[in-house]
This record gives sequence, C-alpha cells and structure tokens, in this order.
Amino acid sequence: MLRSRGCVLRLACTSSLVLASARVSAEGYSVSYNPYGSVAWETTLRCQSQHHDHASTASRITALSEAGYCAVTYMTYSGAYQAQTAAAWVSAGMPDPDPGVPLGWGEYRRWPPEEHGAPALPLNSLLFYLPGAEESGLRPDGGHTNHMHSLGLAQYLEGVGCASCGHLRSAVRNHNPLGLPEAQRYATDSELVAKATALGAIMTLNHPNGLPWYFDAIEPFPAAVEIYSNYHASYDEGCGSSFIARFKAVWDHVLETKSARIWGVAVNDWSSAWTPLGDPAIACWPQITEANRDRGKLQVLLTSYDLTAYMAAFAAGAFFAIEENNAIKSAYPTVTSIAVADNQIAISTAQADETITWIGNGQVIGSGASLPLDRLPANLAYARAEIDDGEGRVVYTQPFELAALPPPPPGEPAVPALPALLDAAIVLGLALVLSRSARKRAASAR
Ligand SMILES: [Zn+2]
Ligand SMILES: [Zn+2]
Repeated sequence: MLRSRGCVLRLACTSSLVLASARVSAEGYSVSYNPYGSVAWETTLRCQSQHHDHASTASRITALSEAGYCAVTYMTYSGAYQAQTAAAWVSAGMPDPDPGVPLGWGEYRRWPPEEHGAPALPLNSLLFYLPGAEESGLRPDGGHTNHMHSLGLAQYLEGVGCASCGHLRSAVRNHNPLGLPEAQRYATDSELVAKATALGAIMTLNHPNGLPWYFDAIEPFPAAVEIYSNYHASYDEGCGSSFIARFKAVWDHVLETKSARIWGVAVNDWSSAWTPLGDPAIACWPQITEANRDRGKLQVLLTSYDLTAYMAAFAAGAFFAIEENNAIKSAYPTVTSIAVADNQIAISTAQADETITWIGNGQVIGSGASLPLDRLPANLAYARAEIDDGEGRVVYTQPFELAALPPPPPGEPAVPALPALLDAAIVLGLALVLSRSARKRAASAR
C-alpha cells in the first residue's frame, strides 16, 4: 500500500519535472510562412469547394450545386487500368485504346467538363469547374498503389509500369497505344507527382492509410494530403476502423519531417451530397443521413471567382479544410481574420465562441484564439489550429511554418525573465521535495 502510494507520488513528481524542464527549454519563434499572409480579410471571397467525391454525372454535379458548392471537380478515376472506367471511355465514343488489355483502361480527361456531359455553369451556387481526377499511382514493379488528386491537370496521364514487364493483375504495363509523350507517362508514384506537377497540377495524396512514415519514399512529396474523407469517416463510425486518425497522423508527420508547407485537405470521396439517404452502400456503415453525408469540404479564400485565382489561393495554402458533421450544412465557423504578429498568431471568428486547439509537431501546444510565440516547446516546425464549434463542425487551418528565434548574442548574459526564474524555482523545489520523500521512504523501509 505504502509502496504504491510512493509510486503514484513519484509518477506525479516525474511528470511535473518533465513539464517544468520542457518549459525551461522553451523557445521563441517567428512565423516564417503564413499561408493566409496575402488574404485581404475584408474583401476575400469564400468559395466552398470539393476536389474528390466522384461527381462524374450531371445529376451529381447538380446535387453539389444545390449543396452550396462554388467549385467542384467533375471527376472519377484516371491514370490506368480501371475496368469500370474503360466502359465510360468507350461509351463516350472513344475507341477502345487497347482491346487486348484484359482489365481496361483509365478514363479520358473530362476537360472542359461542359464538353463531356457536365452542366453548363453557373448553376445554383456553382460558378466554375476545377480540372483534376483521382490518379492511380504505381509501385515500381507496376502494381497498383496510392491514389492522388491532380488539381489543375487537364491532360491525361497514364501509369505504364516498367518498360520490360507484361501485364500483372490490374496493372497495365509497357504499352502506349495513344502514343503519349514521356511527359504524360509514369511508372511510379514519385514519377506521377513529378510529371503531373511539371504539367501544372497541385497534387494531393489521397486517403493516406498507413503508419505515419509509410509514404516517406514518395519524392517529390505531393503538395497536400487528405486529412479527412467522409467515405473513410463512415468506415470509422460503423466498421471499427481508424482511418481519419491515421490520415491526420500522416499529415503531422510530413509537416514535421518533410515540409511545414504541405496542406491538409478534407473531401467527401464516395459519401457526398448526392449519396442517397437511408441504407448505406457499405454494409457496416451507419445509415446515411443528412448529417453524415457531405461532411468533408474546403473553403478557399479567393480574390475572384475563377480557376486562376483558385489555383493561386490553393498553392499558397489560403484555405481551410472542413469537417461538417451536422444536418445543417455550410454552417461551419467563419474565420474573419488571422493576424500574425511578432509574438503571436491570433484567429478571429464571426461567432467567437468556438474551442480553438493549437497543434505543433503532432502535440497540443495551446488553446484559445491566440497562440503566443515566445515560449513554445523546442524544435517545433509548425503550428496549426483546429476550430471546433461543439456541434460537429471543425475548421482546420493550414500550418504556419515556424522558425526558432536566435539565442541572445554571446557576451550579453541574458537576464532570465520572471517566468524562467519561476521555472527554475519549481525545478529546485521539486528536487528538494523528491529527495526529502526519498529519504523518508528509505527510512520507513528500513
Ligand atoms: Zn481513392
Ligand atoms: Zn475516390
């Protein structure tokens, strides 16, 4: 009994000590990149958008236009070897490019959308289309691997695998019946990112389900990663998986280890505004309700409602990823300004009553509308905020890249600030308490 009490005391003391010493080693930072730095908050245009939800028919586009979207991608899979989209290719009047390939072909590029069956715009809230598709990545051996979204890409890219392989399962290798140039053919995920980016795309790694380091080998790394997909959230809720936590862990990992300028994206994937209510398509999912469909989206801060402004805003990171788990849609918190100063980042919202949590290097580093920058944990690469309205809606800011402030110049002994002296006193006090209680315990044990 006595021993276990001592253990509890020791644990408590140890964690206080760790906390106190972490505070002692705290650093000051400046923001070296603010993704919202060019936003004119008074006049910015707020565009709710959807990059990835397989809105591949006119009726799905119409459903999005009635759900408050300003810009969407008229898309489904592309890249190679999708049996289901080979049929779409042929039914659209395109010749079957390679009848000898057993499992089909990637989809044609749906651009401009109005020439491929999409409604003419404007339509309800919908003002413009975004080029792009869900590209199928390849392993170096030609096997099917990661999916990526190619925002802004109007060309068809094709996964062809290695030059000397035959067909393997669903992978279509080493053939080029369309006579595509090398710039439009890729054999690996990394090559897909590099070639699509060279053609003007901004690439997003879709549904990154794996351990955080699982995607490290993709180089160049995509500009963004999905951190929320309604399709996968539905699995988590009904089928016991933990996709969304994994996606977010991947984001925090690559922000810390690769670049603090990798953006987080929320999408619907296969559970969107056009998904029928009631019985789900996936057996273990919950029933589809107004609340649990159409939950993943973006709000992009534009200077004008057009593709050029959209690409510039997305490239800069001037947007929010949004999770909206509520039957009332497009009602997420409105960020009215983000002010970055020498000593803090401050977020203002229209309601000003949300819970705001700050994350740095995957850990909670603060809460509330502002994050002081002068005393944060050491070695932070970035800080980002999650704005939760308590009713199922969360707005994720993009990361603010941090740079540690230089230490005081040598020869000028830094006068410790009062909080630092207090930290030192706390450490000293705890050490005394610990050594006294250790002596007592030793005495009573004898
Ligand atoms: Zn996918
Ligand atoms: Zn998808």
